[in-house]
Amino acid sequence: MLISQFFPSLLSLNINACQVIAEAVRTTLGPRGMDKLMVDGRGKATISNDGATILKLLDVVHPAAKTLVDIARSQDAEVGDGTTSVTLLAAEFLKQLKPYVEEGLHPQTIIRAFRSATHLAVKKIREISVTVKKDDKKEQRELLVKCAATAMNSKLIAGQKEFFSEMVVEAVMMLDELLPLKMIGIKKVQGGALEESHLVAGVAFKKTFSYAGFEMQPKRYDQPKIALLNVELELKAEKDNAEVRVKSVEACGGSIQTSVGSMTDDVLGRCEIFEEVQVGGERYNFFKGCPRSHTCTIILRGGAEQFMEETERSLHDAIMIVRRAIKNDSIVAGGGAIEMELSKYLRDYSRTIPGKQQLLIGAYAKALEIIPRQLCDNAGFDATNILNKLRAKHAQGGMWYGVDVNNEDIADNYLACVWEPSIVRINALTAASEAACLILSVDETIKNPRSSVEGPPGGGRGRGRGRPHAH
Ligand code: ADP
Ligand code: MG
Repeated sequence: MLISQFFPSLLSLNINACQVIAEAVRTTLGPRGMDKLMVDGRGKATISNDGATILKLLDVVHPAAKTLVDIARSQDAEVGDGTTSVTLLAAEFLKQLKPYVEEGLHPQTIIRAFRSATHLAVKKIREISVTVKKDDKKEQRELLVKCAATAMNSKLIAGQKEFFSEMVVEAVMMLDELLPLKMIGIKKVQGGALEESHLVAGVAFKKTFSYAGFEMQPKRYDQPKIALLNVELELKAEKDNAEVRVKSVEACGGSIQTSVGSMTDDVLGRCEIFEEVQVGGERYNFFKGCPRSHTCTIILRGGAEQFMEETERSLHDAIMIVRRAIKNDSIVAGGGAIEMELSKYLRDYSRTIPGKQQLLIGAYAKALEIIPRQLCDNAGFDATNILNKLRAKHAQGGMWYGVDVNNEDIADNYLACVWEPSIVRINALTAASEAACLILSVDETIKNPRSSVEGPPGGGRGRGRGRPHAH
């Protein structure tokens, strides 16, 4: 058996496996995207619209397909948004390349063309992105609210995006310059309406213990001193207590004491106001106005548990976006606008170079159109018609024209405030192209018998049975 006989077809198999992954998240893209309800082996249900979350739950074992899961995950970790886009782009790059692979074009030739196309595209994004002045606080705040709202457009909470985008921006603004993500706590308290969610300027946590007669005690103290005790007041919730102590030390100062013997002033923490408040069915402790580090807590209210979990993920996305926008203050128009502009640019560029490179860069340019195309498909629009309009508009210099999801038309998405931080798009393009190149450079999957998961005999080769499940 000649390996070389298998070589093109194995690559094609890998490419096909990636298409399957893209299929799983395709319909979730954009403001008209659908959510997925996933049920795991134990019967736990999760509703999500987030590419990374969906792929994580899919338990993908095919090695090539797993690459796409990995890039979605790293996109989530690095920029917190664009996880569906990055997966779709990578799969589409591969799809557009497949004919060349099957024709027998050397993968290294393809990889070279793709790397140079990505390089050009990223340079172009940097060139045309719009920078917003930081010195104008009001303008900056407006920009941030818009970015947060765009991130929420495609989520379950889109109906409350005004409410939540203000809250998210408020929360991020409370942090210090380094914008540490962990200083924004999100606590879910089931029950109540979504709009009853609110932001607490400080540390908030569920009251972890009570004692006889506690109802007689005052429920509010101004300028309290806080003792952080690592002593057992009550035998329960030690894990919760530990978390509370750590967060409070960071925010309020002081140091953790293991006895009540030496309560000197320097070991005590401080804050402006301590309050005990009823939130739904729970009793909460609030430490507001913490001097040491800027921290805040979002108290989420709402109905079903899955719904609140998805809300939390959506807020997390939006928080990441706002942090990015503060750090990078550079934006592009979304709704496929940036992808159409890059596509046009690369197509024009490809016409200036000869041979196969021209075709390959043309394929890259075509692949970029998957974003506006999928946005149309998900909204039930005639994608071919809209894409024709978009191509024409971009050829005439309308560089921020993208899909108008409200009117089955195209619109200047910069003016429509459909904005995204440039870094999200740069990261997505780079990661998608690198993933495609990685998959292209693999011509054989070798099975390690010791780590193999039992599969049908002989059916393992190149089918990704070689990897143990990663949990
Ligand atoms: P991702 O996981 O890639 O962020 P989303 O489901 O959040 O996927 O969809 C993001 C895409 O939807 C981006 O291309 C973004 O520009 C687009 N989008 C968001 N809001 C709008 C809108 N109001 N009109 C058109 N496109 C939008
Ligand atoms: Mg998004």
